[in-house]
Amino acid sequence: MPVAEPVDPNVMDVETKPSLPVGDDRAGSGSEDIGGEVEGSPSAASEAHPEVVLRSLDTLWFQVAGTVCNLACTHCFVSSSPTNRTHEFMTLQQVQSFLDEAAGLGVKEYYFTGGEAFLNPEMEAILEATLRVGPASVLTNGLLLDRQRCERLKALAEGAEYSLDIRISLDGYDAESNDAIRGPGTFDRVLEALSLLAEVELNPVLTVTEVYRELASHEGKERFFELLRGLGLTKPRLKVLPIFQIGAEAERSNAYQSWQRLREGDLPDTEWDHLQCSSCRMVTEKGVWVCPILVNEPQARMGERLADTLEPFPLDHPACWTCHAYGVSCRT
Ligand code: SF4
Repeated sequence: MPVAEPVDPNVMDVETKPSLPVGDDRAGSGSEDIGGEVEGSPSAASEAHPEVVLRSLDTLWFQVAGTVCNLACTHCFVSSSPTNRTHEFMTLQQVQSFLDEAAGLGVKEYYFTGGEAFLNPEMEAILEATLRVGPASVLTNGLLLDRQRCERLKALAEGAEYSLDIRISLDGYDAESNDAIRGPGTFDRVLEALSLLAEVELNPVLTVTEVYRELASHEGKERFFELLRGLGLTKPRLKVLPIFQIGAEAERSNAYQSWQRLREGDLPDTEWDHLQCSSCRMVTEKGVWVCPILVNEPQARMGERLADTLEPFPLDHPACWTCHAYGVSCRT
């Protein structure tokens, strides 16, 4: 099956979709930056947006490598790259201080991302500290997972009371489609990392962003499962995420349009619990943000410490529309 049709994030086929004014008018007046308005459309800024209440702080994210990455993927909603120092690495001491605060707030699980998490020289020590208090997941591009590190991670997982999950990103079934997004040579290197994890008997979660429509189809998912089985992962695991049209992705596939905003009444009562911002916060070395998606948005920074960030948050960013429309959670 060829992987050729890129996803148009403005055209949806999910059942939860709101009624959309236009399928795809990007060739005409529709494409614009976040916060901009389509000429002649109602002003999004003048509309009331819903507020999400933090029902319980279950999940704590750490932007542990800041925005520093050894790749510069063209769909990265954080725009991470080797030169992006918007957010710097977090130290073990900084993470430990939030782990201590989180314990008192009832946090149940911890996620680590970047940038590339394993660029952080203290990453393994951070995982060790975290696994003393709860389950941990690391989101990685896999390029720094050599045999020695995989063996150390296995030892860490075996010696811990809580579970350690590794999530590895791949965005195509072959080098041509994946490397167009993630960079030359990455497909082969990710497969090598997956094989090493299989050898040490760690079962990673393959994380795929829906940059091509086929990737999220039943057939597409089966193809990834086959790929993983072929590498020795007998119980393959897969997570598919939609694209967020911010950061580098806004350059690749265009930014949100002004109608892509949540308004009062858009969310039924049953949906609030599914929004990850109703149960998570994201920590960077600059403070605490509402969620893992909006770390480059100054208005999404809620405070210095977790205790400062327990208030409701207005869902006035266009990325919130994607969370609603696709039912997204970045959790595994
Ligand atoms: S982007 Fe998603 S998770 Fe973040 S505040 Fe908006 S709805 Fe919540």
